[in-house]
Parts: sequence; C-alpha cells; structure tokens
Amino acid sequence: MFIARLKVLGINALIGFNSYHDDGYVDSIKKHLSRLNKKYPNQINWNEPAIGMCIGGKRLFRTHIHIFYLDQKSDINNIRTRAHEETHVLDYFDRLDILEKIILLEQKVKINFNELREDNDDCLIDRQVRAELGAIYALKTRGVNLNDLKNCPEYFDFAREYYEKHKLEKKTT
Ligand SMILES: [Zn+2]
Repeated sequence: MFIARLKVLGINALIGFNSYHDDGYVDSIKKHLSRLNKKYPNQINWNEPAIGMCIGGKRLFRTHIHIFYLDQKSDINNIRTRAHEETHVLDYFDRLDILEKIILLEQKVKINFNELREDNDDCLIDRQVRAELGAIYALKTRGVNLNDLKNCPEYFDFAREYYEKHKLEKKTT
C-alpha cells in the first residue's frame, strides 16, 4: 500500500497501489500539462486549466495522480490553491472521509461530502465546491480571515456558505 502525503492539508492517506506526485510550483501550467500528456495518453482531468491542476494518468496497473500549481506570490492564495488540489486527490481516491473527520474534530464543522455530489453524474462544479472545503479547512487552520481572499470564484462562496451553515456551535453575536 502507498501513502499520499498531502502537505498543506496535513493528511496522509492510503491510496492502494496508486501513486501520488506533488510536482510543486511550475512556470507554466500549459507546458507542464503537455509534458504529462505525453507521459499518460489516457488522462483523467479534474479541472480546467487554471492556477492549479490535478491530473490523473493510468500506466500499467497504477493510477498516477499529479498536482501542480503556479506561485501566486501570496501565501494565502498559494495555501488555497494547493489545499484545493490536494482535496481533489482525496476525492479521486475516495478518501474525503479523512477530511470530514479532521474538520469535525479540529473545527467542529460537520461536513457531508456526499451531500455535495449529484447522484449520477458528478459534475465539475460539485467537485470544485468539495475541493474548496479542503481549502477553507487549510486556511482556517492557519488563522486566515477568509475575507482577505480576493477574486474567489462562485464555488468558493458556495463552499464557504456550506461550511458556515454546518458549524456545530453557532455564535449568537
Ligand atoms: Zn479544482
């Protein structure tokens, strides 16, 4: 069995005989993507080319998942992007239960990732919402005020609203 060590989430997950690669900061998403395209003809793409990406490729009997991202020269933006991609990795290997448990334990928020999934067809937007919940967890762990994030996509706001709604202890002030 192999372990994916997700650095920003602080989670180690068993991923069977598959393989996880954190390729780190890259100069160009497009160039790195085309390198991976050559390596893995059968690719699983978890998001549209963006600031960060999560790509899976099958080789022999193993799935290799790669994440990579641009350096945004901002700690909070980098944390958000990296935790987002790491959450896609957990999602891909069906290990979001680990994240559910630590969010409940450490932040007292009861997330149900299955609730954020259409029954039959797992749409891109749902995936992005789930990934943003991992990002929110990582930012809150580091004491970041979410209001300090600029230019977040709509699915971030949706994830934030879901997170706030599922806090076990609601503040009355
Ligand atoms: Zn994504």
